[in-house]
Amino acid sequence: MVNMSAMSTQTLRKYHRSVVLRLIADGATTRTDLAQAIGLSSMGITRIVNELMAADLIVTRGKRTNDKGPGRHSAKLEIRPDGAFFIGATVSAFTTELVCLNAAGDIQCRMPFSCEDVSDADAVVEAIATALKQLLMAEGIDQSRILGMGATVAGIVDQANGLVTRAGYLGWENVPFAAKLEQATGFDIVIENLANAINMFSHRFGLANGYHSTLLVSGGTTCGSSFAQAGEPLRGHTFEAGQLGHTRVASGDLVCSCGRDDCLNTIASGWSVLARSNRIKGRTFQGAHTNQYAVALTELLAEDPSEVVSGWLRDAGKNLADATAEACLLLNPDMVLVVGAMAVSPDFAEGFRVAWADARLGDVSTKPNCEIDTAPDVAAAAHLAMDEFFFSPKLTLSRFSRADARSRLG
Ligand SMILES: [Zn+2]
Repeated sequence: MVNMSAMSTQTLRKYHRSVVLRLIADGATTRTDLAQAIGLSSMGITRIVNELMAADLIVTRGKRTNDKGPGRHSAKLEIRPDGAFFIGATVSAFTTELVCLNAAGDIQCRMPFSCEDVSDADAVVEAIATALKQLLMAEGIDQSRILGMGATVAGIVDQANGLVTRAGYLGWENVPFAAKLEQATGFDIVIENLANAINMFSHRFGLANGYHSTLLVSGGTTCGSSFAQAGEPLRGHTFEAGQLGHTRVASGDLVCSCGRDDCLNTIASGWSVLARSNRIKGRTFQGAHTNQYAVALTELLAEDPSEVVSGWLRDAGKNLADATAEACLLLNPDMVLVVGAMAVSPDFAEGFRVAWADARLGDVSTKPNCEIDTAPDVAAAAHLAMDEFFFSPKLTLSRFSRADARSRLG
């Protein structure tokens, strides 16, 4: 028979441990700070702190002022950077890259990986596993301290079941990506939609930190969005929330990947700029050509644009800003973050800023702050793993004591 009271004590302890770790990472540095923040007795806090120190996940810095009495609680606690590591893999038309973070959240190392046929999910998984092996070997990272891996995909992701239900440009449908990665790498895996992962990361460490809720809009080859409240993304009933690029604007001369000629994608995306400036063939978005679009867009953005192209980029920014203002009426965020390949274009950014400054939200909704983020962190995928397996009741300390036992045995 299951002992319910023993189980709930165990669960509660794991929960408290995860809160303690998060508070130490956020700068609550003494046992007294922790006891006050959580409302646990100092004995309870000391027990958790001792467990985390024995697992080499935290350290004390500075000297105690006193060996007995209240002063002994003033020793500063810090996350031990080499106490744990987290892997992140990003799979988008612009980036296929691995990143390894240490427990302090710093990038330890990173490495791009390539895969000839991204439409073959098994080939992508194999490319990730092979590159990861090379990276970990080259960097000499203690693999027993890797707590898990996060992977982000530009597509529709059923995060809870580890499925990529649809990723147009990859041609994937219902791919059990998490299970495949777990089998190939041996690590615990968490997967997420790329825009959601960047939004969650921005809430925790980036420009959206300190805000209540954030609408992230992206201008890449296509347009997309992610809305998160308190860092938790709104995924929708079938995980398809956030498809800002397919909202209806006005009929035009380009046809979106969905078959319509009136989607925002036809007037605000990087692909629409490429098509209008004749940098690509055809007037209809072809999902299978997304990687070519990404390459062409990257080239276009690296150039000094002609007056005509700069006009198209400004228009794209303006059109995305107008659609963003409409979405704010539905979602009422206090922060709008603009990301994506086009965010680096001064023309696109100016078009967005001017239109955003003019946007009135019908005078019925408070206008959120707005920031254009030209360098959203490449480590968002690895941070998913940090949240899922470190600042989480899923963290099991026994894995570290086993490692200690093995090393003691020689
Ligand atoms: Zn569409």
